[in-house]
Parts: sequence; C-alpha cells; structure tokens
Amino acid sequence: MSQSLVTMSYIVATILFIFSLSGLSNQETARRGNYYGMLGMAIAIIATALSASVTSYVVLIIALLIGGAIGAKAALKVEMTQMPELVAIMHSLVGMAAVLVGYANFMDSSLSLSGVEKNIHEVEIYIGILIGAVTFSGSVIAFGKLSERISGKPLLLPGRHWLNLGLLVAAIFLGRLFLQQAETGGGTFPLLLMTVIALAFGIHMVMAIGGADMPVVVSMLNSYSGWAAAATGFMLNNDLLIVTGALVGSSGAILSYIMCRAMNRNFISVIAGGFGTGSGGEAAVVEGEVQPIDADETAQLLLAAKNIVIIPGYGMAVAQAQHTVNEITKLLRDKGKKVGFGIHPVAGRMPGHMNVLLAEAKVPYDIVYEMDEINEDWAHVDVSIVIGANDIVNPSALDDPNSPIAGMPVLECWKGETTIVLKRSMASGYAGVGNPLFVLENTRMLFGDANATMQAVLKALKG
Ligand code: NDP
Repeated sequence: MSQSLVTMSYIVATILFIFSLSGLSNQETARRGNYYGMLGMAIAIIATALSASVTSYVVLIIALLIGGAIGAKAALKVEMTQMPELVAIMHSLVGMAAVLVGYANFMDSSLSLSGVEKNIHEVEIYIGILIGAVTFSGSVIAFGKLSERISGKPLLLPGRHWLNLGLLVAAIFLGRLFLQQAETGGGTFPLLLMTVIALAFGIHMVMAIGGADMPVVVSMLNSYSGWAAAATGFMLNNDLLIVTGALVGSSGAILSYIMCRAMNRNFISVIAGGFGTGSGGEAAVVEGEVQPIDADETAQLLLAAKNIVIIPGYGMAVAQAQHTVNEITKLLRDKGKKVGFGIHPVAGRMPGHMNVLLAEAKVPYDIVYEMDEINEDWAHVDVSIVIGANDIVNPSALDDPNSPIAGMPVLECWKGETTIVLKRSMASGYAGVGNPLFVLENTRMLFGDANATMQAVLKALKG
C-alpha cells in the first residue's frame, strides 16, 4: 500500500475514533460509538499491516493469531463482574508494549540518526519506557486489588511522600546520565536502573491507594496507558498511534477528573493515598437493631407505593439481577407506578458499570438518573430499593467526619419514606466501612442473593 494511502486510512481511522469517543459519552449512542471504534481499529490494523513498515508477514501473522486468540478467549470467558480487572490487565499490556518497544528501539543499530534528531529519539525512548513501566506495574497491582488477590488496604509506608519524591529525582538524574552516555553509544545501565525505579514507583503508587479511591486509579491508569501508547507512537514514528494514545490519555484524564469530583476528592490527595482506609479519627461503630423483611412484604410495599427508586450497586452485578430488576420495573410501570434508577458515579467496580448492566437488560434510558438529579427528590420517594449497593448509600460519608469515606457524596435514600436493602449479610462494601443505613428506623433488610430475592418479589407481585 502506498504511503499516501496509509496516511489517508490513518486519518479516516482517527476520525472514527473521535466519533467513537463522542458516541460513548451517551448511553443512547454508546452502541454506535463502539461500532465506530471497531471500524476505526479494523482500518488501522489493515493499513498498518499493508504498509511498508512491515518486514515479515510470517512474524506479523503469528503475532496476530496469538494475540487474537488470547483476546477472543478472554472476552468469551470473562464475567461481567471481572470486566474491571480485565481492563486493568489490558492497561498493563499497553505499558509492557511501550517498555519493549523502547528497549527494541534502544538496541536497534540500523537507525542512523544524528544531532538533535538522535537526542529527541533518546528522550522518546527514555520517557516511553518510564511511562510504560509505571503503567505496567501499577496496572498489575490494580488488577490484583480489583480481583481481590491483593488486599484493598493501602500500604502506608513511613515517609512515603519523600520516597516518591526521591524516586522522581532519581529518574530525572538517570535521564540526564542516559542522554550523556548515549552520546557515546552507552546508556544501558541508567536505562535499566530507571526501569526498575519506574516499576517500583508504579507498585508503590497503587499499593498506597485506599479501597474507596480505586475508581480514580482505574481511570488514571487508563489515561497512563494512553500516554504510553502515544510514547510508543513517537518511538515507532507512527502518527496514528500518537493520536490514538493522546485521545485515550486525555479522555482518561478527563474521566479521572470526573471521578475525583464525584467523590469530592482532589487528584493529588488520591495519588498521595489513604482514602477509604480507616485512617484519621475513630469512625463511629454501627449499633442498632436490623429490621428484616421478606419478599411478600416487599411486594406489598411496592404495590402500595407511587414513586419508587432503584439503586443498583456492585451486588447487582455479582447476582446478575439486572434482567429480573427490569421485569419488576416493567410490571410496576404497567401498574402506573413511577419507577426511576439512581446511579452513583462510582457504583460497581468500573466507571459506567451500572449503566452497562441496565442497558444490557434493556431498561429504558430515560428513567435512569444520575446521583445529582435524584438527590433533590427523596422527599417524594415512597420506596427505594438498594440492590447490592453499600458504600454509595452510606450516610456516614455525610454525618461522620471520622468515617474513612467522609466527604464522598452518596445517594441519600434514607430521606425517602422506606428503604429496602437487598444483600446477603451485614458485610461491609469495597471500602470496608460499616453502614448505619442498615439500622435506621425506615430501613428494611431483604437478605439473600439479589437475583433470588428479586425473583421471589417478582413472583409475589405477579401473584
Ligand atoms: P460495595 O462494594 O460498597 O457493596 C456491594 C455490596 O453488594 C456488598 O456489601 C455485598 O454485601 C453485596 N453483594 C455482593 N454480592 C451480592 C449478591 N449476590 N446479592 C446481593 N448482594 C450482594 O458496592 P457499591 O456499588 O455500593 O460501591 C462501589 C464501591 O467500589 C465503592 O467503594 C467504590 O469506590 C469502589 N470501586 C468502584 C470502582 C468504579 O470504577 N466504579 C472501581 C473500584 C472500586 P453482602 O456480601 O452482604 O451480600
């Protein structure tokens, strides 16, 4: 394929990626956004495969087959609840690719650059490996935390901020050393040492982050993976990779900002770590009597209510209760009830997790509200049903300044007439914080797997 055709294809792919991102910003257009992204990626892969930069089709085909097979197997096998960890491990692969491409470029003796061009190329290699290594090790730890292979509790080393600062200064110093030594064909030692430091920094950064801050970490690593891809693009002289990396990097940064705002946190304090950990004063212990309810009584309450709000959380994803919830919603709406969904920005285990589940179950978009929209309206709500959610409906975030999640906005369902909470036990949620909502006067607990209890409620409603 001629170079101009390749460039044309790259421009078309870039435009499709921009359409894709804009489509993904809205539930109704998200599916279309995905199609644009898939088409853009197909064009990008075909154009790259047919471009002059490919020297061995055998290697390319073997790599595509191996990568494609692993990707297809993972996509077919992964449960919806494992999506966040799959995304985290995918980010780590982008980081690893940047590191490997960086070293391959460093060792490539066929490049005959000189003067400023050579210096720029060396800076690209250094920065590419630095970002790639941080992304790689940080994402592996995030994968471990999200899949609960590593404890969600933050590792708070004494003097950790000084340690981070020290690592940063060392990386800058080694960068200078690398550029000096690379002039005379050396530089391997500072490059290797920096890689070890960057890997350690990635591990330390994510290990120090508390459970409740993980949403920001997921979006932040998403952003890093974009910058790592852009750095790879610079090293490979591939414009499409630079643009795509920049799109992912900047959209991930915007998402991190949105998540920080949703949690009332500032980005620097998230990176500094510790939120959702029990640090600070003594959080109040939850005391009081729990009032259980059964499926028949729940159905009665729903039938007597006019205005109902459903709050889904991570437990709905675990129980895969979204289809039953949709059936109940349809039935109640057919009976003339007003039913709405209240979505907290950090509900579940990845940004947009609940919206994806509700869209999958075909819940109409126009009854799905964001937290800010619904928090004004609780005085008019007769019954709210909390399905496998915990941290996002915890009043202590607002009432208890010593609570580890103090300051995080939550769905204030207790201000409605009655709240019914569906969960299996009194266990705490991801942030590991006790929840006083469960013992409030107007709260009823419907214990059991959310899908089983929702099925029982559906049966009672039909009966
Ligand atoms: P939580 O983790 O706070 O609570 C989920 C609840 O679901 C648990 O208390 C559990 O209780 C219950 N549950 C689990 N399985 C079932 C089941 N089969 N049936 C019924 N209930 C079940 O989830 P939330 O959605 O309320 O909050 C999200 C949390 O995750 C926040 O702390 C957020 O910061 C964090 N997070 C969010 C990310 C994001 O991007 N959205 C990423 C990473 C972390 P029990 O065991 O008693 O059933």
